[in-house]
Amino acid sequence: MERAEGGHVSVPDVDLIDGTAMPQLGFGVFQASDEEAERAVRTALEQGYRSVDTASAYGNEEGVGRALRASGVPREEVFVTTKLWNDEQGYDNALRACDASLSRLGLDYLDLYLIHWPMPSRGAYLDTWRALEDLKRDGRVRAIGVSNFTVETLSRIIEEADVVPAVNQIELHPYFQQDGLRAFHRDHGIRTEAWAPLGQGHGLLDDPALDRIGRSHGRTPAQVVLRWHLQIGNVVIPKSVTPSRIAENIDVFGFELSPDDMKAIGELDQGTRFGPDPAVFETA
Ligand code: NAD
Repeated sequence: MERAEGGHVSVPDVDLIDGTAMPQLGFGVFQASDEEAERAVRTALEQGYRSVDTASAYGNEEGVGRALRASGVPREEVFVTTKLWNDEQGYDNALRACDASLSRLGLDYLDLYLIHWPMPSRGAYLDTWRALEDLKRDGRVRAIGVSNFTVETLSRIIEEADVVPAVNQIELHPYFQQDGLRAFHRDHGIRTEAWAPLGQGHGLLDDPALDRIGRSHGRTPAQVVLRWHLQIGNVVIPKSVTPSRIAENIDVFGFELSPDDMKAIGELDQGTRFGPDPAVFETA
């Protein structure tokens, strides 16, 4: 396992289209309470994670902020992502939402700010995006991106706005590989970030193919899946509140999947999502 000076695992960076560097593996905190997120983020930072993914909708930005402050890790060494929720869309709302997230996190800038869902039928995402462009210009946010955007909604931003989203954070795992959207991202310099990278506990990790590949490397199915993401170029943000799993999920830099392993995992695609469909999801 590659270890940095402090004895923890060191995660490599990838470059975003605007030149910002982002760790290729980070830590997700969806469905964790404030207290759980605080504890889990502290453990994650001790284990070497240097990227944390939260959202105003998760209700745990304060816990994440407390963990960051308590960790003693310098602010500039941690990449912090948050997202604005559906009822925070629109130009003025988005500016206010960013201030509110920064204040809950106790930070004076974000590393990455995302629009959580496009909600295409409401048609507010372009105005929202213009606010994110201004936040980036003002230095409140280092990089801006989107989440759950489709080819259609991304195309509209690319055609009509000034800044191309640095990241699109989407549901992506071996059962839902999103080859078409990944190819679109590649063509436009947009980084693919995978949410539910481990399949969110829906049985993916029990797949016999992953078990077989894991055994051949002395690794767990979760490690095989995370390694697959890294080798196809995704950014990943696995979530766990269990310390042993937090450690397991970052220990994925000391082995490599073979072309045959990659092919076998490629064949697991079922083309069906576990989460909501971004073309219609509108919950406020
Ligand atoms: P995930 O695929 O990371 O799965 C997490 C679950 O997998 C855990 O709760 C645990 O039950 C299990 N798990 C974790 N490590 C394991 C291991 N080593 N062995 C066995 N089981 C293990 O799903 P997720 O949390 O939904 O996604 C990751 C992150 O992506 C979230 O925490 C959040 O930050 C982000 N996310 C974003 C959106 C979005 O709309 N943008 C939606 C969902 C999640």
